[in-house]
Amino acid sequence: MRVPPVAGFLLVPGRPAWQRTARVVAALVLATNVGYCLSVFLLPRSADGYSTLWEGWVYTTASILPAVLAAIRAVVDRRATAAIWLVTAGVALNCAGNSVYTYYDQNLDPVPFPAWSDAPWLASYVALAAGLIVVAQRNTGHEHRAVRLDGLVIGLAAGAAAVALWFDTILAQTGGLASVVVGLAYPIFDLVFVVVIVAGLAPIGFRPDWSTGALMAGAALFALGDVIYLRQVAADTYRPATVLELTWVVGMVLYGFAPWLPSRRRQRDENPGDGVATVVPAVAAMMALAIVALGVSGLVPELATWLAITAIAAVLVRARITIRELRLANEGFRLARTDDLTGLLNRRGFGEEADRRLAAGTRPPALLMIDLNGFKEVNDSLGHASGDHLLTVVAARLARALPPDAVVARLGGDEFGVVSAGDRVTLKATVEAIQGCLGPPIRLDSTRVRVTASVGVAVSPHDGGTRDELIRAADVAMYEAKRNQLPVAWYSADRDPHTRDRLVLIDELRSAIEERAFTMHFQPSFSVRTGAVVGMEALIRWNHPIRGMVPPDEFIPLAERVGLIPAITRAALELSVQQLAILLAGGHSLGLSVNISALDLVDDDLPAYIAQTLAAVGVPPERLTLEITETALCGDPARAEHTLGALRAGGMRISIDDFGVGYASLSQLLRLPLDELKIDRSFVTAVDRDRKAQAVLGATVELGRTLGLEVVAEGVETEEELAEVTRRGVDVAQGYLLSRPLPGDELARFLASRALVPTNSETS
Ligand code: C2E
Ligand code: CA
Ligand code: CA
Repeated sequence: MRVPPVAGFLLVPGRPAWQRTARVVAALVLATNVGYCLSVFLLPRSADGYSTLWEGWVYTTASILPAVLAAIRAVVDRRATAAIWLVTAGVALNCAGNSVYTYYDQNLDPVPFPAWSDAPWLASYVALAAGLIVVAQRNTGHEHRAVRLDGLVIGLAAGAAAVALWFDTILAQTGGLASVVVGLAYPIFDLVFVVVIVAGLAPIGFRPDWSTGALMAGAALFALGDVIYLRQVAADTYRPATVLELTWVVGMVLYGFAPWLPSRRRQRDENPGDGVATVVPAVAAMMALAIVALGVSGLVPELATWLAITAIAAVLVRARITIRELRLANEGFRLARTDDLTGLLNRRGFGEEADRRLAAGTRPPALLMIDLNGFKEVNDSLGHASGDHLLTVVAARLARALPPDAVVARLGGDEFGVVSAGDRVTLKATVEAIQGCLGPPIRLDSTRVRVTASVGVAVSPHDGGTRDELIRAADVAMYEAKRNQLPVAWYSADRDPHTRDRLVLIDELRSAIEERAFTMHFQPSFSVRTGAVVGMEALIRWNHPIRGMVPPDEFIPLAERVGLIPAITRAALELSVQQLAILLAGGHSLGLSVNISALDLVDDDLPAYIAQTLAAVGVPPERLTLEITETALCGDPARAEHTLGALRAGGMRISIDDFGVGYASLSQLLRLPLDELKIDRSFVTAVDRDRKAQAVLGATVELGRTLGLEVVAEGVETEEELAEVTRRGVDVAQGYLLSRPLPGDELARFLASRALVPTNSETS
């Protein structure tokens, strides 16, 4: 049968017989002991102070009952600890000593010293001291060594004080060797009691649980009684049955009840009462110093001096340990919040700083996420050492440039974070400082690189009330900045892909992929030289059940972010290749351009899939051009090179889309297998008037010519732009001026109607 544990004060759940017994014994303990105590006050004894009834029967019974009470607990509690058994034994032995003294020793004349009763008495002190040590040990737990030493310091100092005050009288008492040994044993045990009690209590801030408290109070009363007793014996003033008797009686009762009182296991993180626990060791140390000083003058016994010296030694050891622990804790605190490479705060430190400012509430903070552009490229091409150097330089510049109340942290990789005051003026200064300090080129080995960054800003409380919300919002804004190649973007819930609307949209996009709810529009492109349609670019549209035709700008970036691109690319490819096959079969000779995303470059199956799709409808691969934006290439140049190489090996053409706004380096372009540069619309718009656009256009044409690449101008909207583009030597033009993107059948009609009019090549 499983025995439930003993629950608390005089409670033995599930064992009513034992519980009743415990209660009866407890009542008897109180009755006899209180009765005896009252008798001391109320019933004067005869001249020798000894009454057979009270000092004999009642006192003996009163002192054995606590032992019985403690024993019951030890027997019924299956988790009874060594401490409970030791206390039980101690109380029982003490009672045995009393009995031997009462019924044997004191009838001898003269009463010998040491007497027989001293044997059980001393044994009881051993058991009780052992029990105390066990309890003190348990209460201290796996405390810091420094705190344990506090206990030792205080215990030793208290011992030294006790010896200084009382030992001389005790020594004066002693006669022969046996009497010296036994006579010394009691006060030494009492000293042990004091040391153990104080040493055990100090680490727990002198706040013991009830059980420990009762035990220690009992021991303290015993020590007190013994000391007074010895003084009285020395002064020959001792009489039995006085108030002194009560110290032992009450001590015994406390011992008997102690195992039944609530005890708790110390919790590890409990703070050992700051006030007392720090003041008391200091006072103890000073007391020990004073005792040593007195010892030098021979004013206290040698033992007291030695105890005090030991206490001081413990103080020194404690100080050493404390300093080391403090240093470690400090270092640990700092390291846990510092980024190894740059010495800035790390992500944890950043989070805590943000929390601190959010909690302060007075000036709502803003969080800024900074992501370096093209860092990966530096790392890959110049090596990690250069990458690390670049990060250190950037970190130092940011730390120096930021306004005083902005704090910068490195969050990992090439990502930095700033906690700044959230008001417009400070924020503006912060953003400007960030952009400004990155301006000057950084020397790496033999090259100099110019670093730019995309910064996302989120301001509390508008963009988020908690640290996590703000970090996420700033992150979203940062990606927004990157995607649009802006230096800074402020968080806006409208553009957040994770707001509810966007989540719904993602869901709908998933079904759209399953249901193939996409249509392709085709925008023809024209040979600038002949005016003939030489190709068409496939541009995807989503037939949304409610919203109608959704333009790609609204879902392609989203699909890129949630990893839906590969499926969309496949759908677009299939639809447009089918359209191309129809047009080719209808006698039109043109190529097809399809846009692919950065994510497609890590899709190892893509080349084989495209080859298969083309083969299925009998379209030769040379007819297909894959457009990849310059920005997409920068993500993982090595990977891009590999995939584009595989595509080109399959016979497809490769075009760099939006050329001129990305960050591809010339060396990278030279490594890539390319056929076409498609200059970004921003350099075509107003190219007839904009000198800078003209320069870029001219340089691109030059580059294309040097590398043997076809140059395409997209977004041609006016005759002037077309004229300028033509003048600069672009090969192919595309734009609303020439034709808007058209559904497949309309394009077929468009081509058919054009076939009737003579083109430039036929007239010239
Ligand atoms: P893009 O590849 O640069 O495509 C050209 C965009 O410019 C098209 O917008 C086209 O309609 C528009 N456009 C053409 N001529 C002119 C002009 O004269 N003036 C102006 N202002 N715009 C002109 P669209 O169709 O909205 O596509 C936007 C972007 O979406 C594309 O930019 C491309 O990056 C992406 N996209 C479109 N279809 C697909 C696709 O099937 N797959 C992937 N991955 N991306 C696609
Ligand atoms: Ca394109
Ligand atoms: Ca483009």
